[in-house]
Amino acid sequence: MRVETVADGVHLVRASAVNWVIVDDGDAITLIDGGYPADAGALAASLAAVGRTPQDVAAALLTHAHVDHVGGLAALTRHHDIPVLTGETEARHARREFLEQAGPADIVRNAWRPRVLLWALHAARLGALRSVTLPEAHAAGTGHLPGRPVPVATPGHTSGHTAYLLPDAGVLVSGDALVTGHPTSPRTGPQRLPAFFDHDPEQAAGALDTLGTLDAGILLPGHGPAWRGTPADAVRRASRRAGGPW
Ligand SMILES: [Zn+2]
Repeated sequence: MRVETVADGVHLVRASAVNWVIVDDGDAITLIDGGYPADAGALAASLAAVGRTPQDVAAALLTHAHVDHVGGLAALTRHHDIPVLTGETEARHARREFLEQAGPADIVRNAWRPRVLLWALHAARLGALRSVTLPEAHAAGTGHLPGRPVPVATPGHTSGHTAYLLPDAGVLVSGDALVTGHPTSPRTGPQRLPAFFDHDPEQAAGALDTLGTLDAGILLPGHGPAWRGTPADAVRRASRRAGGPW
């Protein structure tokens, strides 16, 4: 787990296979996503690394409810009273009223790609096959939270996928709608995840257009390193590569 401070009070945490974000306004913290089930210890350690405790977390926001983004969070919220917020649709996903996630069959179909096989084995060790639910997840406003995050509906990867713009810091937290790397990809730089990870790849392409209209100078994705540049430029680079070899 590595913690990188990318802007005043904004920290990108990079665990072994997924990222989360800590936003600190000096009073309290907004946490965005929370890693695999096996990342629970790293999640607590990342708060300690920025001088915080779980009691300082005003709320946890979800970009989406895939197991690699909510697993560690589920453990944290079992022990601490932390509101879990996202949009209406993704809140239902987080409560597991439905599940939109690549399953073992999707992985097996793609396992002839060595990177996919290696990633799948690592993900399984991190708890990817465990069923995780956040029964308390609900929809609510976020403007009062540290960083004044603005939710941006970016459906496609999941039906309720939500990106978050941090206007004061000029940071866009893009979740899995736009990433800058992934263990299944040989490339770094703005890109889309392999299509089999998207619930609706066509809709996910539309979400990129939405992201491209936003005003920010730093992109913090769900997977891969922080990237400096405008969302429009990031989207251009990601679109150029769409459909290419991975
Ligand atoms: Zn995802």
